[in-house]
This record gives sequence, C-alpha cells and structure tokens, in this order.
Amino acid sequence: MQKTDWTKEEIYALYEKPLLELVYEAATVHREFHPKNEVQISTLLSIKTGGCPEDCGYCPQAARYHTDIEKNDLMTLHQVKAAALRAKESGSSRLCMGAAWRNVRDNEEFEQVLDMVSTVNEIGLEVCCTLGMLTENQAKRLANAGLYAYNHNIDTSEEYYKEVISTRGYEDRLKTIDNVRKTGVTVCSGGIIGMGESWKDRCDMLHTLSILNPQPESVPINALVPVEGTPLEEQQVVSSWEMIRMVAVTRIVLPKSVVRLSAGRTSMNQETQAFCYMAGASSIFAGDKLLTTPNPDIKDDLSMFKELGIEPKQAYKKQKENHEVEGKEGKIKWSRPGHKIERNVRAQEKAKKEKV
Ligand code: SF4
Repeated sequence: MQKTDWTKEEIYALYEKPLLELVYEAATVHREFHPKNEVQISTLLSIKTGGCPEDCGYCPQAARYHTDIEKNDLMTLHQVKAAALRAKESGSSRLCMGAAWRNVRDNEEFEQVLDMVSTVNEIGLEVCCTLGMLTENQAKRLANAGLYAYNHNIDTSEEYYKEVISTRGYEDRLKTIDNVRKTGVTVCSGGIIGMGESWKDRCDMLHTLSILNPQPESVPINALVPVEGTPLEEQQVVSSWEMIRMVAVTRIVLPKSVVRLSAGRTSMNQETQAFCYMAGASSIFAGDKLLTTPNPDIKDDLSMFKELGIEPKQAYKKQKENHEVEGKEGKIKWSRPGHKIERNVRAQEKAKKEKV
C-alpha cells in the first residue's frame, strides 16, 4: 500500500541505508508500481530562451548573469510543430515546452502557447509546459487546450531555497502546484542536487513532495550542471553514487511517480544510468540540449536501451478539459522576498563589470 505520511526522520533513515540494500528496496517498490523494463523518453524544448528576470543561482537563462547562451524570443507555432514531429519520430512520447518567464501573463504570448499545446496534443504527444508561476485561471485554460502535465520544480528544501533564489518564495511554488491541481493536469515537480545543499536538504525536498496529496505524478531529479557565469559555476558535480542514492530514495517515498533522470546525464556513464533505472528511474530527456545545457545523443540512449532490454513508453492521449474560465482574476501578487544571496550578488556584479 502507498504510504503518504512520511516523516523527515524516516526519509533520513532511508537515505543513510547501505547503498545496495537501498537500491534493492527501491527496485522492489518500482516493480510493484511500474512496468519493469519501460522508460519514457521525453523531449524538452525551450520555446523562449534567456532574458529571465529571476535570480535562480543555477540558471544560465537569468538575465542578470553573464553566460553565453543564445537568447530567443517565443518560437512560432510552425517551429514548435516541426520540433514536436521530430521528437515523436525519434521515439519521444512527451514534449515539455519551457519558457524563461517569472510567471505566465494573460497576453498574446500566452494565447500562442495555448495554440502550441493544442497542436502538440493533436500530434499525439503528451504535452507538458514549464512557464513559471501560474494562476488558477491560467491553469484551467491550459487544461482546456489539452495540457497533460505542468512542471514546476521546488528545486530543494524550503530552508536551502533562500540560499539559491531571492526573487520568489517557496510558497509561490506550492501555490502554483495547487493551482494546477485544481484541474485534471498532472503535476511534475522535483529538484536539483549538487547546489551546495546538505543531504538532509535533499531529503526535506522529498518530504515536501511526498506529503502533497496527491503526490506529483512526475518527479525530475536533476544533477546541477555548473555553468560559467552563474553563481554556482564552481560547484562540484555530484558523484554517481549520490545520484543513484537520490533516485532510490525518491522511488521509495514517491512510489507511483515517474522519476525522471534529467539534467546532468552527460557526466554519468551508461553503467551509472543503468543503476539509476534499477533504482527506479523511469524517464529520461532526449535531445542534444536540455533547455541550455548538454544532453546525451538520442542514438546513444537508444543503443543503451537495447543493451538493457528497455522499451520506450508509449504516449497517453489526453482529452481536452472543459473548465469554466472566469473573465478576470484580479491582480495576483506573487512574493518577492528580495533578501541578499552573496554569491548571486557577486555573479551579478561580475556580469556588470564584464559588460562595461
Ligand atoms: S530557472 Fe526558470 S525562473 Fe529561474 S532564472 Fe531560469 S528560466 Fe528564470
């Protein structure tokens, strides 16, 4: 039976188990709730890149840091359709569209995104979006357009969040997840390890996700890819063992969720990834880039799947919903804590100097 009242102490105890025992337990849970040789391939498409007003310390898309990413305005419907067809042809069953926005605004660009959602759904891919903070009305409009999932990561523990981001609060993340839950759109929420957090922060993040009722259907686990120019550029890459341990604990406390091996796969060899599938990872992102960071070649992924006897999961066709959408919601106030994070300020000052 699925346990939904995890305590932090129980999760700490899991995290501290001998690794092989932990993986065995996770693999047992995985076989109870998921097909044993199936992994979903998702494609992540950046539909609007860079120029983001937020200060997420890990993100090269934040306008305030100096990184060499290529910025792009919102893609056209034609570009998105072409990318979706390519993704489907190469074996993906889900397309996740990401825009570097703080929050969704009720403007022409949102109308265009709604058209994109509808088009990708018609193509027969599960459609996911990650567009920043979202109101209930906006969530309903996305559901009506055929959105299957909304991604909104909580990133890390509530306590450590303040060390990484100062332009929004943890409660905003949870509020957006709650707004998505008011529709039939599924929730995708996870985090990043390797940002300088303690192992207890990792467990605390899983605790927050595990006590959501219902738990998120999808949980991405990212390993930080340190990017030059961001405040976390000097962070050490997490070890394979830490990644495997994190996947295994996630699988046990969120037994029904799809656990997604996300950013950081380029620094893992195929043996490490195989260990992660054993420990309960059931999805990967395909494509040569994950928004802006490198990702393994799909041909290598497919040959690894063949070697391991893994089958890519088929897409689920989403029916459009029919929510009544209110004309006006009034102005939503998302928080803006604005506290000082030394390394974020330093990265910003460095970027300013380089510009002069
Ligand atoms: S993670 Fe998202 S919200 Fe944060 S800076 Fe990057 S694009 Fe903006």
